[in-house]
Amino acid sequence: MSELLEVEGLRVRFRTSGALRAVARREDDPWIDAVLDVSFRMREGETLALVGESGSGKTTLGRAIIGLVRAQSGSIRFEGSELRGLGDRAYKAYRREIAMMFQDPVASLSPRRTVRGQIREPFEVHKSAERDGEAEVRRLMDLVGLPHNFVGRFPHELSGGQARRVGVARALALSPKLIIADEPTAGLDVSVQGEVLNLMSGLQSRFGMSYLVITHNLPVVRHTSNRIAIMYLGRFVEQGTTATIFRSPAHPYTEALLGAVPRPDPRRRRKTVSIEGEVPSLKMRPRGCEFHPRCPYAQERCRHETPATTRLEEGHLVRCHFPLGNGHRTS
Ligand code: SF4
Repeated sequence: MSELLEVEGLRVRFRTSGALRAVARREDDPWIDAVLDVSFRMREGETLALVGESGSGKTTLGRAIIGLVRAQSGSIRFEGSELRGLGDRAYKAYRREIAMMFQDPVASLSPRRTVRGQIREPFEVHKSAERDGEAEVRRLMDLVGLPHNFVGRFPHELSGGQARRVGVARALALSPKLIIADEPTAGLDVSVQGEVLNLMSGLQSRFGMSYLVITHNLPVVRHTSNRIAIMYLGRFVEQGTTATIFRSPAHPYTEALLGAVPRPDPRRRRKTVSIEGEVPSLKMRPRGCEFHPRCPYAQERCRHETPATTRLEEGHLVRCHFPLGNGHRTS
């Protein structure tokens, strides 16, 4: 597998108020960092899961990669070409190669377009010459398991699972190399979640595309991702293979997220570590380690010194002064 996507030191900032209002409110810094110092690589055919609570910056990161929000610094290289800083027209060419499945399966579809129109839209936007548009729509419907007689239905006539299949067909339309799937199973019944994940895996085996799966739900990605990156307040706090993350999490936040994942075998239950409190506001980033107000292992050093990213083993990175498994467990 060769390198498909390389993200280095990416930072995405948003203004919280206009320049005049910031002066009127005497705000020293009207900016917040939604994504901060994020680096990772993806290979062809790989699935990387971005996992974190609401407000962790994972959706913003996905949108920055596809150019829907601008990153202020850092680098996004796709097949070796730099994407950050491209204008809309130049970016559009890459949206044939990078597709996005948006979060809400029904609301992300245009309410006035039929299934046929939804699936044809990517071809229209990219002025892609299809040999036979109707045949292409039916081919894509076959690929995602939608009956042909759904072709004239509108989004409100579809179930969540059917609408998600339309979203997969749209993402697949231009044969992208990377699909960014934002909460692909959100709002779906558990049985339908499994169907959608199996569908995505089957399509990946057949066509070899990569997936960047954005989710707050760790169990969802256990059997479908090769690697996992854990995000907290816009930063990656841990990255590793899925097996490593589930077997030996090194960051207390990862451990807490895993504690919420039920294990079928009671003899292999892991220690439950609960995290107290809410995710802090991005405008009020804690000093030192940003997780320290919620961390059950926080020590004095954590309150004033920001941890750097350290490598525990090949491909296993953690941002913590006292990674788990290195002798700092206090209970
Ligand atoms: Fe917890 Fe300290 Fe590690 Fe932060 S650096 S996660 S506060 S142990």
